[in-house]
Amino acid sequence: MGKLWKVLIVAAMLTLLPGCCLKHEWAEATCTEPKHCVKCGETEGEALGHTWRDATCTAPKTCATCGTTEGEALGHTWVDRTMEVPKTCSVCNATEGSPISCTEVLLKKIPVEMRDWVFFLGDRIYFSDLDTRTVYIYDSNENEIGKIVPPSEDVFHWTTGIYTEAALRGAGRLFTSEADAEGNCSVHVYDALGKEIASFPNLAKLPEGHYLAAENIGDDRYLNYFDKLGSSEELTPVVTIDCENMCVAPKEEVPAVRWFDAKKFSACWLLENCDDKYAMTASLDGKKMYLVHPVYYSIKAEYVDISGFNSLGYALVSADGVSYDLIDTDLNVVGKDVLPAGRRSDWRGETIIGVYKDDEWKYYSIK
Ligand SMILES: [Zn+2]
Ligand SMILES: [Zn+2]
Ligand SMILES: [Zn+2]
Repeated sequence: MGKLWKVLIVAAMLTLLPGCCLKHEWAEATCTEPKHCVKCGETEGEALGHTWRDATCTAPKTCATCGTTEGEALGHTWVDRTMEVPKTCSVCNATEGSPISCTEVLLKKIPVEMRDWVFFLGDRIYFSDLDTRTVYIYDSNENEIGKIVPPSEDVFHWTTGIYTEAALRGAGRLFTSEADAEGNCSVHVYDALGKEIASFPNLAKLPEGHYLAAENIGDDRYLNYFDKLGSSEELTPVVTIDCENMCVAPKEEVPAVRWFDAKKFSACWLLENCDDKYAMTASLDGKKMYLVHPVYYSIKAEYVDISGFNSLGYALVSADGVSYDLIDTDLNVVGKDVLPAGRRSDWRGETIIGVYKDDEWKYYSIK
């Protein structure tokens, strides 16, 4: 063979080699690649394409074959829990937590009567005995761990109050106010164990026989004291305690107190734990209670009794005076006939309701 032939054959082999091998080694088609030879790269047919499964609550759009994902999981579409069912996803029925529970809290030792009050805060119980005018502090087993006694026997007027974490920043605090017969008023502040942490002697001078009472709380921070016997037209607090800095708040710093039309309603209460959606009012004859717009006082709902909202955003309401239903802050009924209605009911802790019925207080934990 001449030299030229050899060159031609080698050239031919060189041109053929990249496109062809003696025996292909095929790799099966995948989602993204067609069937192809791993040696020479020759292909046959097309890539299979992904086999997409739609996104779900917990997984993004996913290829069933290769697991490739696109985008994000949809997330659950939660429906609030009720007395019967826990928080539930309306799409996939996943649940979280437990249903709302309502259980009686029994007091074994503390002798509560109608005019006394009991308050449950954390693992402590506060009991104001109006006979001795003393506030007792108990642990959860009802063992006494502290007390606040009136300043002296001859103090003309003495009131006590406790405000929870929800109402005032910081741990629960107790406030007492006292007045002498001439109307000189003082306020004292105690920590959750009854230790005095601030004192405001001769805070205000009122007319003889009048005394201060904390009537409402502005902005979760300011405790407004009004003249308890003053005219109901009196819109301005006599004095305000700034509970964050524990000092008397300068007048110009105090948020405006919102008041109601006294020709339309007999009373009005600011409501905690409802995202400022409502205030609570009572009819002139006191027989009906309303949830109203907190500024315009348009009536959103009407009941015979309303408890106000607890720290989880639930309120007990009675439409018939016979039993209480449990509602959420959107006024959805989340529990029917949860408790028998009493003559009155108040939250006595973040989740504990006190119901006065048949001459005794009963306490229920709703959470
Ligand atoms: Zn090949
Ligand atoms: Zn795939
Ligand atoms: Zn879901």
